[in-house]
Amino acid sequence: MNPQEVVRALEPWLARHRRPAWKPIVENIDGSPIASKFCGLPWIGPDAPWPECGVCKQPLQHFLQLDLGNLPEELGRRFGLGLLQLFYCTRKECRGSGGWEPFADDLSRVRVVHPNGPSWPTSHPQQHVQFPARQIVGWSRFTDLPAPCEHDNLGLIYKYDFNARTLRLQCPELSFDLTNPMKDCPAEEIASSQLGDKLAGWPAWVQDVKYPRCPRCKLPMVNVFQVDSEDNIPFMFGDYGCGHVTQCPDHKEIVAFGWACF
Ligand SMILES: [Zn+2]
Ligand SMILES: [Zn+2]
Repeated sequence: MNPQEVVRALEPWLARHRRPAWKPIVENIDGSPIASKFCGLPWIGPDAPWPECGVCKQPLQHFLQLDLGNLPEELGRRFGLGLLQLFYCTRKECRGSGGWEPFADDLSRVRVVHPNGPSWPTSHPQQHVQFPARQIVGWSRFTDLPAPCEHDNLGLIYKYDFNARTLRLQCPELSFDLTNPMKDCPAEEIASSQLGDKLAGWPAWVQDVKYPRCPRCKLPMVNVFQVDSEDNIPFMFGDYGCGHVTQCPDHKEIVAFGWACF
């Protein structure tokens, strides 16, 4: 079987795991303090002050604000309501001091705030904004698939025999069982997750599958937004690392951010 035939044979498995995802459509403007945006001025209120870095204690750079009540209709209220905000320390002296571990509250801060009343006067936080603002003015839908490191958990099993240079690929739910030369069946050709900034879909894990668990109910958190290096935010997480904002499916106020690189 060549790779195309393998992909065809696995179509029912692929169909089950296809998920919609959305690329943000941006304009180089800041927009209102409650708009979905990269960088620029977020909504800051009396109960939601501008967060500081846990390491250098300086104000963090605003990276992302998502108006959860104004996402593509197909998502419904899956991620709840309010503004999801991500802040990150971009100072040189803090590089390498963390930021990759969800819930560490060191270099990153992610939260859901509920705007009420006027936002903070813009004169104060303006000085914390270094990166150019990009307002999210729309979403471009595409179909995403799970990253190869996630296939095993989803019932697609790869068994490599490095001596024989063969790969045995099994999908028990389809009674699929095939042994091929290793080069003929790369997992990436079967299904892989798109890199770049995106809403929903599947995380493009750079290393291992790493859904954090909700500290309250211990459920695995779900992917909300992938924040990639140097896409809409002019910043690199480590060496071309890729970050993920996740949320507890039951406790929508509990959100986390982590990233990984090679
Ligand atoms: Zn810092
Ligand atoms: Zn929970």
